[in-house]
Amino acid sequence: MAAGRKELLMLENFIGGKFLPCSSYIDSYDPSTGEVYCKVPNSGKEEIEAAVEAAREAFPAWSSQSPQERSVVLNRLADLLEQSLEELAQAESKDQGKTLTLARTMDIPRAAQNFRFFASSIVHHTSECTQMDHLSCMHYTVRTPVGIAGLISPWNLPLYLLTWKIAPAIAAGNTVIAKPSELTSVTAWMLCKLLDKAGVPPGVINIVFGTGPRVGEALVSHPEVPVISFTGSQPTAERITQLSAPHCKKLSLELGGKNPAIIFEDANLEECIPATVRSSFANQGEICLCTSRIFVQRRIYNEFLKRFVEATRKWKVGMPSDPSASMGALISKAHLEKVRSYVMKARAEGAQILCGEGVDQLSLPVRNQAGYFMLPTVITDVKDESCCMKEEIFGPVTCVVPFDSEEEVIKRANSVKYGLAATVWSSNVGRIHRVAKKLQAGLVWTNCWLIRELNLPFGGMKSSGIGREGAKDSYDFFTEVKTITVKH
Ligand code: NAD
Repeated sequence: MAAGRKELLMLENFIGGKFLPCSSYIDSYDPSTGEVYCKVPNSGKEEIEAAVEAAREAFPAWSSQSPQERSVVLNRLADLLEQSLEELAQAESKDQGKTLTLARTMDIPRAAQNFRFFASSIVHHTSECTQMDHLSCMHYTVRTPVGIAGLISPWNLPLYLLTWKIAPAIAAGNTVIAKPSELTSVTAWMLCKLLDKAGVPPGVINIVFGTGPRVGEALVSHPEVPVISFTGSQPTAERITQLSAPHCKKLSLELGGKNPAIIFEDANLEECIPATVRSSFANQGEICLCTSRIFVQRRIYNEFLKRFVEATRKWKVGMPSDPSASMGALISKAHLEKVRSYVMKARAEGAQILCGEGVDQLSLPVRNQAGYFMLPTVITDVKDESCCMKEEIFGPVTCVVPFDSEEEVIKRANSVKYGLAATVWSSNVGRIHRVAKKLQAGLVWTNCWLIRELNLPFGGMKSSGIGREGAKDSYDFFTEVKTITVKH
């Protein structure tokens, strides 16, 4: 390493309780500077074979522990994550580009909470039993862990989404091979350092780093991995479905969204406007649940638009470490270009860009000028058929359009291929229930956004996914159920 140059952070795979180097590495960038700062193992089939062997060996002992014993280990892991909160938050913010404030208040506390939550829920499941007295029979169900679970996660909420899969899988007695996104691998590697201290036996959690086409496909295609939980994009889900089909694998797919916010004329705009700015631009708009189509009832359309643009201009883009910043950098150069290209297409189609990209000036310190920053952008005068209203942009871009009637807005909100989340703003309780029921979305928030109850099902309809996650849903997914009949 030349004098004066910073050492690169070198990650290693974690297999069978050991950190192992890899024969090749890929570059990982700091989104706020555009510089390479970390090397991620470029794993493939060989590493997956080793991880399968370790997970297979660990399975009999781990799956034989009682839920109470596994619960103790999960709680210890939650404690250790909480003790390392600041270090993990700094790492997540640097790796992903999100603000340190968000990593500190949401990503890392929630990752710890995932272990604590499943540590608690695992000890409360019961089985079913029915009788058939006329045949002198009783029937009951038992659930057993599926085996080795393959867990694949995206880059937007790295540790938070990875632990949302690891925690229920191991709580139910499976052993796991996790593959985080190659763009954001650091906090998963840091998690590995805590496992031994928490009492996780070697081979129960294996983390293998690298790209989707190489290591992701090796994991998905492996015949000894019968269950795959995937969060990511719809095209990748298609590929995973194809690769899993010959083995009839159990699949959970949590995919993208094109989430509408529906704002009726009786909405409380004092609450709705700041919440809708947040739902559009939180985490740089890089949350699958972010709002990207805002339908506003015509009588309040102009007032809403004026106040919404004013509030968006106050949503500060800044260095991820700046405590006054609401938004940091986007994940990569390629993603920034993709997000910007949607704004250019909208402009070419005759839409108006009211603030943000190409309208306002972004001022950045010299060191960050090659970083992947972009201003929050509001588009209007855009047709429902435009790609900005149909496709997932997954960045800080939102469209605002007027509507007239309840019936019309439901039809338009449902007119995309996705069905993940929606928000409805109104003070009419009857209307809220009516509209929420008719929307094609796995989650509907009314007069709020992103309030989560982990016990209840999470997931999407249509191209937003297959299956649900949550206390009971994740337990059902990571176990096989058997019905036993006893004649007496
Ligand atoms: P992506 O599909 O490109 O990648 C997700 C993961 O899959 C990564 O780990 C990647 O390496 C891996 N992968 C890529 N190709 C693969 C292949 N051929 N085989 C196996 N694995 C492969 O998605 P992304 O860009 O990382 O994440 C953004 C997407 O995730 C958006 O569509 C977003 O809406 C979605 N998302 C959904 C949820 C949800 O809960 N529904 C949550 C967060 C993100």
